[in-house]
Amino acid sequence: MNIFVGLALTPEGWCKNVRVTVDEVGRISAVEAGVEANPDDQNLPKRILLPALSNLHSHSFQRAMSGLTEKRLEKQDSFWSWRELMYSFLEHLNPEQIEAIATLVFMEMLECGYASVGEFHYVHHQYGGKQYENIAETSCRVINAAQKAGIGLTHLPVFYMQSGLNGNSLAEGQLRFGNERSGFLQLLENSQTALKNAPEDYLLGIAPHSLRAVSPESLKEIVETRTSGPVHIHIAEQLKEVEEVFENYGARPVEWLLHNESVDSRWCLIHATHMIPEETQNVAKSGAVVGLCPITEANLGDGIFDCRGLLSSGGKYGIGSDSNVFIALTEELRLLEYSQRYVSKERNVLTSKSGSVGRSLYNDALTGGAQALGRKSGSLIPGNWADLVSLDIEALSLWDCSDDEILDRWIFTSDDSLVREVWSAGRQMVVHGQHIHHKEIEQRYRTVIQEIRQGR
Ligand SMILES: [Zn+2]
Repeated sequence: MNIFVGLALTPEGWCKNVRVTVDEVGRISAVEAGVEANPDDQNLPKRILLPALSNLHSHSFQRAMSGLTEKRLEKQDSFWSWRELMYSFLEHLNPEQIEAIATLVFMEMLECGYASVGEFHYVHHQYGGKQYENIAETSCRVINAAQKAGIGLTHLPVFYMQSGLNGNSLAEGQLRFGNERSGFLQLLENSQTALKNAPEDYLLGIAPHSLRAVSPESLKEIVETRTSGPVHIHIAEQLKEVEEVFENYGARPVEWLLHNESVDSRWCLIHATHMIPEETQNVAKSGAVVGLCPITEANLGDGIFDCRGLLSSGGKYGIGSDSNVFIALTEELRLLEYSQRYVSKERNVLTSKSGSVGRSLYNDALTGGAQALGRKSGSLIPGNWADLVSLDIEALSLWDCSDDEILDRWIFTSDDSLVREVWSAGRQMVVHGQHIHHKEIEQRYRTVIQEIRQGR
């Protein structure tokens, strides 16, 4: 398959009249610039082609509760009161509903320009904690959903064994998440089996949920049983969590993790909102990616991550949509930069050499996202998966501009509606701004929302 576009962002910079050749597995096999379209090319002269981003953190089921938690119920609503609502929402979700919601979420991600996702998946069991016949039933549902939507998947089954740092057993609302070590290993094995029938770009990682949910010994054991593949963990998202870890372990969460685990480039530290400068520098040195989810972090009142500090220490980040309260690629990047402006009272904070904030944000999220998902993507080079997104060169917000200014204008003055085509590992799932199965996926989701509302 050949795609010809008027303009593309290549490792050599912005190039005109580019042909990208994709092999039958979905990898880029050639990128040629300054050429003419061939008759058998998919000819898109009015498009700007970019490498597509990876969404490194999602809990897809939470999309179905978006908008339901924006009413004040307690004197002071917080992350913790939101968590209670989330627990009660998921009580009766069944596997079919989990799959339908995930399919919609993955479709929406593709439509806004993401080509792959890291699904941090923790609703494993039935209401009350009873296992499904296949312990990886809901993981299989997520894998099915990704295949239906055509998004690239790094599946991250969550290990969750206790309700808090005191080692207490799971609370009622957490029974659907819990596994002993042996059960979790079985779940991984069954997920791996399910992935055998999935596309070649799908892979399996692990996600010890958080320092709250996993004992230090089990964390070590679980990480040591998997010597390759991504390891994701929620960490230092809330100040209360930082205080609890300090009281129990005598160190701040990130400080403790770096001392007790061999954190390296396989790791993705989700949120890591509350770090002191020394922790930020040490995370940067470790080679791990920090997984930032600006819309959700704002929505949950987490706090503001010191992204400037991370970059000046040479650290890496990527972006995720976490609770999926609103799936919007440009808004994640824009909000990340704006959060830094609020704090620093400066403009154009997250820049690199070129000075373009849009280019820096996009480049950083490409590199960090691909690393966090263990996915060979993030630039238009032969051997990488053909994760591609095109923008409309004639859109008003991009009118009469070129090169890095395209990304500045897209991210700061417009939105994801400029996305026209999206390919994930060569699978073209979005055409003219819409997913090829949009109607059917949306209809199924509407039915599921009605079922949930009616308590069915
Ligand atoms: Zn999360």
